This record gives sequence, structure tokens and C-alpha cells, in this order.
Amino acid sequence: MSVLAIDGGRPAHPGPWPQWPPAPAPDQRALLEEVVASGAWGSTSGPLCDRFANRFAAAHGVEHGVALTNGTLALFVALQAAGIGPGDEVVVPGYTFIACATSVLLAGATPVIADVDPDHLHLSGETLEAAVGERTRAVMVVHLAGSPAPMRELTEVAAREGLVVVEDAAQAHGARYRDAPVGSLGDMGTFSFQSSKAMTAGEGGLVVSRDRELADRAWSLCNVGRERGGAWYHHATVGWNLRMTEFQAALLLPWLDRLDDEIAARERFARAFARSLDDAGIGAAVLPDPEGTTRSSHHLLMVDLGDDVDRSWAAAALAAEGVPVDLGYPALGSVEAVARHARVLPTPGLGARAERTVWLRQPMLMAAEDDAAQAGEAFARVLGDRRATGVSLQSRSR
Ligand SMILES: *Cc1c(COP(=O)(O)O)cnc(C)c1O
Repeated sequence: MSVLAIDGGRPAHPGPWPQWPPAPAPDQRALLEEVVASGAWGSTSGPLCDRFANRFAAAHGVEHGVALTNGTLALFVALQAAGIGPGDEVVVPGYTFIACATSVLLAGATPVIADVDPDHLHLSGETLEAAVGERTRAVMVVHLAGSPAPMRELTEVAAREGLVVVEDAAQAHGARYRDAPVGSLGDMGTFSFQSSKAMTAGEGGLVVSRDRELADRAWSLCNVGRERGGAWYHHATVGWNLRMTEFQAALLLPWLDRLDDEIAARERFARAFARSLDDAGIGAAVLPDPEGTTRSSHHLLMVDLGDDVDRSWAAAALAAEGVPVDLGYPALGSVEAVARHARVLPTPGLGARAERTVWLRQPMLMAAEDDAAQAGEAFARVLGDRRATGVSLQSRSR
């Protein structure tokens, strides 16, 4: 058995991982320069934000899109457009980014922090149903890690309970469920273009909907309460300036043409990595996608380390092997800052899985299949060491 890198051995993956974002492509540079030269830097004077929003929406199976500043405010705008406000409750999954709860608070509503299914850490029909109360008006479904949430059971419960469905697809550009793109499965979908996401302009967000009225309201909220095509100083409702800039749209518009190839690259990495984990037979496994997944966009790879693993030691040993992993989200209900303003439900499903899970982040997934095999080898070495569990694999299997 080779010496672990944490003990001074040669790392399983000695080389670097890809940078994110990738170097700007010629079409991005050209468009960006065009915007700079034109002087039309904002969407009130330039055409690119609208063009991008429309093309992005069409690529996600719906007619209407509104580009804005970031994904957090996209969630806020979607909720406001749907009429969610003070006195209303919105169910959010207990395992997600904090923006899911804070966007609800920004809208003046109360987040209900629900449990997730331990198999894939998504909201399920069952955990949603258990969270619905008298005042519950909406559910924020999160397509976590690029993996579409189990929408059939979720929309069934939502329809029965009369809930608005907002899809948070901040991590799932281009993902598909039962052949339909995410963002087209609920009432409204939201996306993020923050630096870590699959398409990025440093910051940015987008709301999509097939419903023209909801989209018009979202547009108005982002444009100081104006009406599309209306007079400049006519403000039909209270709104804000939440507009994306033309610089952001110039970086994002060409990206639509290569998103599919990039998802395919991550898919190849994910397959090769999962295969090498399975071959190693060490009890670690990539979390499966819910039934009905047509395409995960593989924003993150969530890996269950197995029973009784000392996760901090394993993460340190993996980092030494050249395979840095992330420990993932704390349970949302344990974040005091939002929990004190939320209705927090027990989360046994989350508790059973999240603390034995680590993430491989998106830039790593853009690497080659050989790199994936080396990453799998690093997991095999580290989890095969008795310090990973305090007991040797042999005595465990006895
Ligand atoms: C990134 C992210 C957001 C927030 O997007 P920002 O553009 O950073 O505001 C919301 N939800 C999820 C699940 C995210 O990953």
C-alpha cells in the first residue's frame, strides 16, 4: 500500500485543477469590446440584456426571461411577482444556500425550513407535505448541485395545497427533468451567474416564466415599478433598480452556445469518478439523482463517504492528495441568524446524510477522465486508511 500524501507520500493527483471561469473566449471578448465602444452600458440603452434573457428563457423551455443583478434577488423578485409577502410562509429545503431563506425574509414572508430526503438531499413530496401549514403559500424547490429535484411528486403536493412553485436553479443551468428543462417545471424559475456558477459574469441573475403576467411583474419590480413600453416616469407599482448591465450580458450571451459541451465534460468526469469509487469498493458513493432525471448539469458532485467516517480527517487527507473537497452546507435550520425568523422543522433525513457527505466543486469537474480516476484513487487510499474510521476496513467487514 502506498504512503498517504498526508504522511509524506506522493499525492494521488499532483497536478493543478482547471481554473473557473475559463479564459474568456474570442466571441465574449468581441462582444464586450463592442459594448464598451458603444457607450450603451446599461440595459435601458443597450439590447443585450433583453436578447440574453429571451435566449436563455427559450433554452429553458419558456417564453419569458428577465435579467437582473444576482440570484438572491431573482428569488426575491419571483416571490414578490407571485404576490408572496408578510403573513405568508414559503417552504425551503433544509440543505441549501442561505439565500433561499434570506430572499423569503426580504419579501417579508416567513421561511419554513423543511427536511430533505436522505437519498439525494432534495425536498421530497413527503417532506414538503409535512411542512405545509395554514399560511403556507409557496415552495422554493432547489435543483441542488445541478441535480433536478423530484418535480413530479413536488408539483403534485403543491397543486393539492395550492402552493406557488419557485424553482431555484442557481446551480442547474441546462439541467433537465423528464425531458423538460429546469425553470419550465414550476411557476417561475431563477438562475444565478455569480462567479462559482456554470455560467458566470462575476455576478448576475435571471427569472424565467412561461406566464407573461408573472414575467411582466418581475420586469417591473426590477425597473422601478415601470411598465414595459410605458412612460419613463410612470410607476405602476413599487419596484427597484435591479437591472443587469450590458457588460454582464456580453459575457453570458455567447456562453449559451457552449453550455451543452461543458455539461457533457462534467458528465464524463462524474462517470469516470463514480466508476473508480465503485471499483475501489470502499463504501463511498456519489449521491444518486432523483428518478426522472434526464440530465444533471453537475454543478457539484456530492459524495457520501460511508458509515462512521471521520470527515474532517478524510478531508484533510484528501487535500494532501491534491483533491480538495468541501464539507458543504450547514443545516439551514442550525443557522441562528435565519432560524430565529423561520419555522424550523425537525430534519432527520438531512441529519442522516449531510454530515457524511463532501463535495467536489465544479472547476474540478471540468478536468479530464484521467484526473477523475486519480481523484477516485485518492478517495480509495484515504478511506482505506484506518484513521478514516478509527477501525480498519477488515475489522469493519467482520
Ligand atoms: C448561488 C445560489 C444562490 C444565490 O445566487 P447569487 O447570485 O449568489 O445571489 C441561490 N440559491 C442557490 C442554491 C445558490 O447556489
